[in-house]
Amino acid sequence: MFLDGKRALVTGSTSGIGLAIARAMAAEGADVVLNGFGEAGEIAVLRDELKATHINADLTATKGVEDLMGQAGPIDILVNNAGMQHVSPVEDFPPEKWDAIIALNLSSAFHTSRLAVPHMKTQGWGRIIATASAHSLTASPFKSAYVAAKHGIAGLTKVLALELATSGITANCISPGYVWTPLVENQIPDTMKSRDLTREQVMNDVLLAKQPTKKFVQPEEVAALAVFLCRDEAQNINGANYSIDGGWTAE
Ligand code: NAD
Repeated sequence: MFLDGKRALVTGSTSGIGLAIARAMAAEGADVVLNGFGEAGEIAVLRDELKATHINADLTATKGVEDLMGQAGPIDILVNNAGMQHVSPVEDFPPEKWDAIIALNLSSAFHTSRLAVPHMKTQGWGRIIATASAHSLTASPFKSAYVAAKHGIAGLTKVLALELATSGITANCISPGYVWTPLVENQIPDTMKSRDLTREQVMNDVLLAKQPTKKFVQPEEVAALAVFLCRDEAQNINGANYSIDGGWTAE
């Protein structure tokens, strides 16, 4: 399998998109390092299924990222995927939520990257992939921290791509539209409150209204592109930001 012998760290991989990426990389032979929160029994099942290691680190703290990278050892494929959301008008946006979202969705990717790059450079091969978002390219109201962090990770990715271009390392973003995962499901109550809508109205008039296909993206579709970016055929795909959003950002 083409990822035999490669060690892949996927942050936030106990759920949703990260878990789908971890599964897809393990299926191609990668030695996967899982990270993220969850119930111990469920994580043990995932570890067995993927023959993976799990490192329980809170990536909102620099120390948490440093512990994760120290325990993970040399990483060939780094997928910066962990993220969270909070939906609120800017004047009510809790400052601690802003700090946590910027720390997790943006700063943790800087810290993992700075710590992963030396090994990648030494061996002359590496892949850095960010699960960004349609919100790395466009905005929605009430998501100030998330949109700022996602625009930030798109910028960080371009800088990594340029700096590492001659080292055999590529850096790219994947930008999904709405994917049906706990992150989306959990923002429905706050969106109902912020916009004074019912659950059905949020689903159809806010979420799927953005996506011309009127379908949620599947986590496996994001995972398939992440795996492709690890192939040799993708060695010249560098600094790209791939939309998987049913046409949302084409408008
Ligand atoms: P999810 O809630 O299903 O998964 C999030 C993962 O991050 C989980 O494994 C969780 O345990 C982990 N996590 C949360 N806080 C953490 C912390 N402090 N430290 C370490 N890990 C932590 O969400 P998802 O929808 O799969 O989102 C994954 C990524 O995809 C995020 O960056 C998100 O912004 C992005 N994304 C999601 C969508 C969507 O519609 N679901 C769309 C575009 C981008």
